[in-house]
Amino acid sequence: MPERLRVLAGDCRVTERGDRTRTHRGRVVVLIKPDNTTLVHDADGYQPVAWLTRPDSVVVEGDGAGFSVTARTGERRLRVVAEAATASRGLPVTEAGVPVGTCPEDGGSLVRSRGDVVCLDCEERWGLPAGASVTDTTCADCGLPKVRVERGEPFHLCVDPGCDPLVAAVRDRFDRVWSCPDCDGDLTVESAPGRVFLGCEQYPDCETTFSVPHGVVVDECGCGLPVFETATGRRCLDGTCDGD
Ligand SMILES: [Zn+2]
Ligand SMILES: [Zn+2]
Ligand SMILES: [Zn+2]
Ligand SMILES: [Zn+2]
Repeated sequence: MPERLRVLAGDCRVTERGDRTRTHRGRVVVLIKPDNTTLVHDADGYQPVAWLTRPDSVVVEGDGAGFSVTARTGERRLRVVAEAATASRGLPVTEAGVPVGTCPEDGGSLVRSRGDVVCLDCEERWGLPAGASVTDTTCADCGLPKVRVERGEPFHLCVDPGCDPLVAAVRDRFDRVWSCPDCDGDLTVESAPGRVFLGCEQYPDCETTFSVPHGVVVDECGCGLPVFETATGRRCLDGTCDGD
């Protein structure tokens, strides 16, 4: 169920108490967001006449004809009182993001928002690997969008990691491709929550690990490890290596 935005309107007395007290009177619209952020809008401009961002509490009382809203954060208080309401409704709202496709389960819109892809209907969300971009191709297995993510080379994977895990793709391509610089072992592809890294197969006797940079392999370093082209320039897999 989407969260609800309360919308109240009427001829209101708006009182703010904080460092000083201010009172407004007018036909205004009061918006109370799911996070309790309370905004009072009049007829003019984009800016609220009064507001309180994510207050500690909001109490809405109705007496049939009118309403009162009291929002508080510490010593600050915003109070809106209408003798007669012209509107009092709850409306479904979701976060808004860049459209990236359609949910195969319910046909809802998928948007990219705060590093996730989220369905606006079922509200399922899938976290994106760091640096991933959402493409306009879809997964042949589940119908979700595919993402492009660079870990040594570009991988095109389902946005659902359960369908197409990043670590499996990187392992298929780069497991044991490079040798450990500190012993005679190979580097194997391992994963920890939120990251893919290369670790020496001799662990725990050898504790050498490198996180896989977000970029593509373009060269071999003098030290024998690969050189990655990343958003911030070229670098050896070993971030402490100076290049030869
Ligand atoms: Zn959905
Ligand atoms: Zn899939
Ligand atoms: Zn080693
Ligand atoms: Zn190097």
